[in-house]
Amino acid sequence: MAIQIKNLDQLKVMRRAGLVVAEIHQSIRAVIKPGMTTSALDAVAAACIKRNGATPNFLNYHGFPATICVSVNEEIVHGIPGDRIINDGDLVSIDCGAIVDGWHGDAAFSIGVGKVDPQDQKLMDVCEESMWRGIAAGSENARLSDIGHAIEQYINSQGKYGILREYGGHGIGTEMHQEPHVLNFGRKGFGPKIVQGLALAIEPMITRGSEKTKVLGDDWTVVSTDGSRGAHFEHSYVICPDGKPFVLT
Ligand code: MG
Ligand code: MG
Repeated sequence: MAIQIKNLDQLKVMRRAGLVVAEIHQSIRAVIKPGMTTSALDAVAAACIKRNGATPNFLNYHGFPATICVSVNEEIVHGIPGDRIINDGDLVSIDCGAIVDGWHGDAAFSIGVGKVDPQDQKLMDVCEESMWRGIAAGSENARLSDIGHAIEQYINSQGKYGILREYGGHGIGTEMHQEPHVLNFGRKGFGPKIVQGLALAIEPMITRGSEKTKVLGDDWTVVSTDGSRGAHFEHSYVICPDGKPFVLT
């Protein structure tokens, strides 16, 4: 499928979807605490989407059974909310999206709950900063692979972290996942040119150990094979018709 280029009117609708996603993030940050179940966080997200008149895009996506992904500790992405109780010191990654008038938003963050291990905090800080470096590298006229290069370079400059290889960012628009796929590693100067109207979700996923992962028996939850904790940050951004990058979420 070709890369979808959006005009300003379409981007304005995407911004509305992005603001719903941002509000879900805020709502979850406000309530998350030890003793909660991961499904309670899902309910917070579902209520937020509903009161905004938006539609969840994760629910029923290839059969995904919930509104958001909640991944705890060694779970890195695609965790299914359920009865799991969040404990003091857990590292929780939340990924969510929303659709407004047919246009998608998608963003994720990790958060330490209660007393956070400084090593976990560093993991999250490195992951988040690498996302911003990736977005900054993906400015107008850059090449797609410049994004992954910047992400990988920064992470590797901060210590020994596993950068997930099988998962990455993506184009976003009238579907949540569009071309192009965006690697979180690689060499500079390859792939399509970043142009006005291109919207990308940038989402590094890293662990404190190995980059090797497996999918649990629920067919969704991605865990580190060595049990090391993971972090995941994501924002969707666009190069506006004036050439400037703008974070939608
Ligand atoms: Mg995404
Ligand atoms: Mg996401």
